Amino acid sequence: MNIPSMPDDLKPVVVNENAHVVLEKRYFQKDEEGLPRENAEQMFWRVASVIAAEEAKYEKSPYADVATLANEFYELMTSYRFLPNSPTLMNAGTRLGQLAACFVLPVGDSMEEIFESVKNAALIHKSGGGTGFSFSRLRQKDAMVGSTGGVASGPLSFLRIFNTATEQVKQGGTRRGANMGILRIDHPDIMEFIAAKERDGELNNFNLSVALTERFMKAVEKNEDYELVAPHTGDVTGTLKARDVFNRLVCKAWESGDPGIIFLDRINRDNPTPAQGDMESTNPCGEQPLLPYEACNLGSINLGLMVREGDEPEIDWDELKRVVHMSVRFLDNVIDASRYPLPEITEKVRTNRKIGLGVMGFADLLFQLRIPYDSQEALILAERVIKFVREQARSASKALAAERSPFPAYAESVFGEQNLGPYRNATTTTVAPTGTLSIIAGCSSGIEPLFALSFTRHVMDGAKLTEVNPHFEKALRDAGAWSENLMKDITRKGSIAKMDHLPAEIRRVFVTAMDIAPEWHLRMQAAFQKYTDNAVSKTVNLPNSATKKDIHDIYWMAYEQGCKGVTVYRDGCKAVQVLYTGEGE
Ligand code: ADP
Repeated sequence: MNIPSMPDDLKPVVVNENAHVVLEKRYFQKDEEGLPRENAEQMFWRVASVIAAEEAKYEKSPYADVATLANEFYELMTSYRFLPNSPTLMNAGTRLGQLAACFVLPVGDSMEEIFESVKNAALIHKSGGGTGFSFSRLRQKDAMVGSTGGVASGPLSFLRIFNTATEQVKQGGTRRGANMGILRIDHPDIMEFIAAKERDGELNNFNLSVALTERFMKAVEKNEDYELVAPHTGDVTGTLKARDVFNRLVCKAWESGDPGIIFLDRINRDNPTPAQGDMESTNPCGEQPLLPYEACNLGSINLGLMVREGDEPEIDWDELKRVVHMSVRFLDNVIDASRYPLPEITEKVRTNRKIGLGVMGFADLLFQLRIPYDSQEALILAERVIKFVREQARSASKALAAERSPFPAYAESVFGEQNLGPYRNATTTTVAPTGTLSIIAGCSSGIEPLFALSFTRHVMDGAKLTEVNPHFEKALRDAGAWSENLMKDITRKGSIAKMDHLPAEIRRVFVTAMDIAPEWHLRMQAAFQKYTDNAVSKTVNLPNSATKKDIHDIYWMAYEQGCKGVTVYRDGCKAVQVLYTGEGE
């Protein structure tokens, strides 16, 4: 493959201080002594050139010259308008070459299949990807095992093996593995699963989610019993009171945030390729439901940069359109450029060609437009933006289908059946957490409000970084309210909600996660979900004083408003928080 070489006059990249720490530690290629042997320009060129090089094999490509496209991709990333998910930045053009962040692996009900899956997960973690698994097919604890005459140890015991295996794979110096473990609500071991993370540090490499069915939710509504079913025989092993189990879920989420919930039937209603089977799990952070052996590469557009400045700042829709089209081409090329750790994954990915384009910097956008996060106006804007992104992403995917060919499973997909016109990709949109991407781009993460307007960030290995939101700082200065003492006070508190001496408009616009009532968090998630193919990563933050009833209500709202899952976090309920304000330090 002809990979264009780095031009001498490449524009230098502006790397903020926090990004520099992260990039040097985890993203730059290293020599044998572990020292970085590339800088930011070289890293972004490595990625841009390798992804652009895929273009050459498509005869109808509008880019006669791959170098031109490489330059455009370079500009797209280094202006921080768009970034692909971390594995693409880390591994493009390297020997490993694994570029996707999200995987789902099947776990079958036999020793061979279970340990095959452990091995495959280790391979994926080594390449920087995160894996999701459903344990729902494993027979319950104490069920008979035919071959030995003994009894089964159940999903939970195997989950611990996956967790330990993950602990041992330190991801070749990139990142520690992340997993999602799913169990259906009607699995006989569900109560044990719900309590699995009760003790601190237990299953620390796993996020757990219970897969709720509509049947179960109806039983909760009507206060009925529901049946537990042995997965290997289909026999009913017992019944439980649906409301008791639901309340137990709420109670655990109140105590520790774990487990989360996903709405399985809703996820499968949006399965674009039902002929290939059901979706049973998501990736680790929940934003990407996938079929077994499927992977997806994500990318995020920085909405904070899609603003046309002026007296009345507004979204630059033309620019957003241009960036979406470039990003879709980029992500489709990533599929071709990526080397997957298993042939089954390669095949599945090439069949459906899912990509997950999403957004970050949404809070920055709201700040610039002076719209409070917890307002009707913000919800309307959210829907408008994500609807536009999806429309444009689909139109870009259609154009690529004409240029290249539709995804191979198109004819048997829901699009084929409904004659919606051939797409290049079975899905195009996902809203990711952008945990690290947002640090690199220096923007607010995903669609989250700011955690604090000024705060101390704990990054890898105990390093600490202080950050002040630049839009906030500017607004304070413009209002003549800025002072060093005030900034210190804000860093200590994180929020300005109670600072009555500051202008009311500033206090209304610059709200943080904890100032925002939980139902607004949820409404925002639902607004984005409405026009997202895959799912939306969002945390519903609750104050420490929130009650179980509050969590109960959020769960119902998520169900009623069409979310695909929900994750709550009650302040202070876990020993370690990744982000925190200075208070209590
Ligand atoms: P990033 O900002 O690094 O691209 P995100 O925070 O957006 O990543 O997470 C997207 C997905 O990437 C997650 O849902 C998960 O599948 C995967 N991922 C994130 N962090 C890790 C990790 N430490 N190990 C493995 N996979 C991860």
